[in-house]
Amino acid sequence: MLMEEAKGGKVTRQIEEVARAEGVSVEFVRRGVAAGRIVIPSNVRRQRRAVGIGEGLRVKVNANVGTSPDYVNPEEEVEKARVAVRYGADSVMDLSIGGDLDQIRRMILEAVEVPIGTVPVYQASVEAVARRGHVIDMSSDDIFNTIRKHAEDGVDFVTVHCGVTRDVVETLRRKGRLLKMVSRGGSLLAAWMIHHGRENPLYAEFDYLLELAREFDLTLSLGDGMRPGCLADASDAAQFHELLTLGELVKRARKANVQAMVEGPGHLPLNQVEMNVRLEKAVCDGAPFYVLGPVVTDVAPGYDHLVAAIGGALAAWAGADFLCYVTPTEHLGLPSVEDVKAGVIATRIAAHVADVAKGRDLRWDNEISEARKRFDWARQIALAIDPDLAREIRSRRPPVMDPKACSMCSQYCALKLAEEYLREAQKR
Ligand code: SF4
Repeated sequence: MLMEEAKGGKVTRQIEEVARAEGVSVEFVRRGVAAGRIVIPSNVRRQRRAVGIGEGLRVKVNANVGTSPDYVNPEEEVEKARVAVRYGADSVMDLSIGGDLDQIRRMILEAVEVPIGTVPVYQASVEAVARRGHVIDMSSDDIFNTIRKHAEDGVDFVTVHCGVTRDVVETLRRKGRLLKMVSRGGSLLAAWMIHHGRENPLYAEFDYLLELAREFDLTLSLGDGMRPGCLADASDAAQFHELLTLGELVKRARKANVQAMVEGPGHLPLNQVEMNVRLEKAVCDGAPFYVLGPVVTDVAPGYDHLVAAIGGALAAWAGADFLCYVTPTEHLGLPSVEDVKAGVIATRIAAHVADVAKGRDLRWDNEISEARKRFDWARQIALAIDPDLAREIRSRRPPVMDPKACSMCSQYCALKLAEEYLREAQKR
């Protein structure tokens, strides 16, 4: 148990790996893990790359992949996972809901070395529909048995919407909203709870969930079932009621030596992003904050990877630790491999922008600027976040008049002129 060992002063393999990758001391990471301000998702069943998420570490990026009932192509989902990692995703979540879910999850687990997350309630619901006809026919055993199955396969973290309690659903009902719920897992559980008049099993049996998590050292990602799905619903009563519940559950998880992070919105106007991050950090006692986006305007379907990168940069600057990518197809359809690449790169830019602002990672920017000063195009392209695209653009319209410059200003290249004349001025 990583958290227990960290509390006992032990420096584990994962802690060493994270400290090395981040350029911080092992003691810093150990203390962070012991306090619950850093998580390192790592199932005891499968040794994977150790990735630290939390305070004082670089901002991490997650990429979601997975089939839908409309498109089942396991090989393509594996390719998406590979492409996501190739372009810098720190973790991958398999959100499949179509086809042979066990097979797809296992293929993804085999394909990439980064931590893998899942949302087991999806599979429990899909199987309930297949066996008994409706999601409300799912039992609490179905949910916990699916979590166990995912853990046995070696999944490192699971999203569990424990904060969708009966009280929280009642707040939603009483206060109202434009878009009631946009969390798939949250809505499945809410439908089940309303139909049966029962409490969410993930909340009612949270101690059992902790036992399960302890057995595999599974990290819990406390899902935000009430995340706002549009700006009109941002920062409302249901969202914050759930957050308060998650704050309590973080404390219980830590007491049980189970690593936990907290998921967050969602759709937020830019001026509410920082407040949301600070609130999560205060309510959840510094638990790592994992945000989807935030999507800071609702009007740009097709460009939501850019919208989310704007929100993600601000969220990460304010203290969010883990950005879930958004692809250009968000709100429109299942992403392609190219969309996955676009989403990962946009989100990596957001994470990097925040890291630079916090005084980390500036060396990369300085290196590319040095290459730009030397007109070393090969080096510039190699250092670009997407070298393939940079190379393609440079060769699409190559320089004609001055091969040193680019075809934008050609022989009037400001960089070149300024270099030459300033050098001359210095000689005088
Ligand atoms: S100053 Fe103009 S020509 Fe020179 S590198 Fe920049 S864009 Fe290209």
